[in-house]
Amino acid sequence: MEQLLEYGSFLLNPWSLTFPMFVAIVIVKEAALQLTDFCVTCACQCLKPLPSRTGTRSLYKNKLDNKDAAFLAINSLIETIFTGHLAHKLWYSSWIERSFWSLGILNGPIALLLLILFNDMLYAPAHRLLHHPSLYAYIHKHHHRSVYPFRGNIDARNEHPIEQLIAMSLWMIAVYMTAFSVGMHAACLAGHLTLMMTGASLNHAGFDLEIRFLGVDWYSTAAHEMHHRRPDKNFAQFTMFWDKLMGTYIPYIQEDEKADKAN
Ligand SMILES: [Zn+2]
Ligand SMILES: [Zn+2]
Repeated sequence: MEQLLEYGSFLLNPWSLTFPMFVAIVIVKEAALQLTDFCVTCACQCLKPLPSRTGTRSLYKNKLDNKDAAFLAINSLIETIFTGHLAHKLWYSSWIERSFWSLGILNGPIALLLLILFNDMLYAPAHRLLHHPSLYAYIHKHHHRSVYPFRGNIDARNEHPIEQLIAMSLWMIAVYMTAFSVGMHAACLAGHLTLMMTGASLNHAGFDLEIRFLGVDWYSTAAHEMHHRRPDKNFAQFTMFWDKLMGTYIPYIQEDEKADKAN
């Protein structure tokens, strides 16, 4: 019993923080996230808005309500606990290399690409399951209140807390899968955390950004907008590789009466 309590306490508070310290970290993390989002938005000014964000569609801006605020607050706590676990692994794990000289091609860039692939490999089918008619209304529907999301990280994190827990658990599994297949350097994990933060924000900001190399679509903001417009397509967060394999990929379409009616 004592061991179980100890494990539960580690699960919720891996750094054994006092309550005021925990609150201070939530506030600092939230400020850092909003600052990052501001910088991302400024950097986006050199990008074109997605074609959907012109004309009357630029007026499709849903307002946030109390339920959104409550979910965002709960998700902020979940993210703090999860980031605490990632930081704990970065600092203490025996399977993460930390010294500068141990950074190599395999545990650095290759591990990062593999981590993106593994994470979406787990996330895309789970996301598809959340769209199943018997589940959709209870959990994932909340994230789809906005057909043309535009608030960056606020719209990205505006989801049911159960969905947040699922996404973070799959992310952690992907970290283990990568580390135990090709190894992992701390820089890879820190890089992936940064990519996930900025990528999720950009996916919901309304700007057009696509990254392609080695014949793979590694990232496309247009693809995630298409998911909000056509919720049975484009389930991955970053690479559309898995959607192409599952037969759920849809390319960007400009005119979309169906989505306009749903908004
Ligand atoms: Zn979304
Ligand atoms: Zn969805």
